[in-house]
Amino acid sequence: MERVVIIGSGCAGLTAALYTARANLRPLVLTGRQPGGLLTTTTTVENFPGFPEGINGYELMTRMQKQAERFGAQVKFGTLEAANLARPPFQLTVDGELIETEALIIASGASHRHLGLESERKLENKGVTYCATCDGALPMFRNQPLVVVGGGDSACEEALYLTRFGSIVYLVHRRDTLRASPIMAERTLAQPKIKPIWDTVVTEVLDVQQDKVTGVRVRNVKTNAESVLECAGLFVAIGHVPNTQLFRGPLDMDENGYLIPRQGAATNVPGIFVAGDCADRVYRQAITAAGMGCAAGIQAERYLAAR
Ligand code: NAP
Repeated sequence: MERVVIIGSGCAGLTAALYTARANLRPLVLTGRQPGGLLTTTTTVENFPGFPEGINGYELMTRMQKQAERFGAQVKFGTLEAANLARPPFQLTVDGELIETEALIIASGASHRHLGLESERKLENKGVTYCATCDGALPMFRNQPLVVVGGGDSACEEALYLTRFGSIVYLVHRRDTLRASPIMAERTLAQPKIKPIWDTVVTEVLDVQQDKVTGVRVRNVKTNAESVLECAGLFVAIGHVPNTQLFRGPLDMDENGYLIPRQGAATNVPGIFVAGDCADRVYRQAITAAGMGCAAGIQAERYLAAR
């Protein structure tokens, strides 16, 4: 029986691991499918305090893991398949193995939102991608026109990164102003290789028949005019959906699937705590996830001490 299991190894999970490890609880951290979480797929993180020159996302997460392990956290590669969360001990099925724990911290993060087009699904990894830092440098995208969809910080970051590789980067956004933070929006619109396409949605990814991306069909939402943008890659950056499907039922969540924290990082089930993007629809920053991870770690420790 574990004292505390942490689901997720992003900023929230690893900070919770650091705090519970320093409380001598030897937390077991389950990495999930993406060890290090979404931050490992970004380039430079410029807004994590303590790094005036910025820090590579992958490096930041590697350092966080090392720091937690130094105090006794055990990091295990594994994906949660089922959870019985009615009461402690909580039962988790991880890659077919049953793990029981007295306390549980859910820091399962969020995944990339998809446009929901059939052609998008069929051409995933054949020119459709959700991560410019992972895929942008592939030969198929070099010196080719590329399309990024979205208007938030992620879309701006992807578009800026892709200017290194593409001949031109179309930024297709459904409104006529960016949602991104002013500094990112300014930088993006000042980059001559980025061409914003306002008030526009992607309606189809071409060409399923050729089994590769050759363009996107777009529609102007104000005029309804349709046209085709030729491109070799479609980078979708339209936000995230929380990874909480397995907790539906016993844990309170809102209509979008975000877990609802109460009294700090607690949930409606005593002994279960939450942290990070799976429970935060407002801030969704590395530093707020780390802060919630800290709170969840401290609350789990106090819960176990009181038992
Ligand atoms: P976001 O801020 O939620 O933006 C999502 C964008 O996608 C919005 O512009 C939205 O349009 C658009 N969108 C959503 N659904 C769509 C659909 N079905 N079709 C077309 N467009 C759609 O998500 P994000 O950019 O991933 O950022 C998430 C959080 O991470 C934010 O808090 C952000 O500040 C943070 N972040 C920070 C950095 C950084 O500081 N360097 C980098 C990346 C992310 P509308 O504008 O019309 O809603």
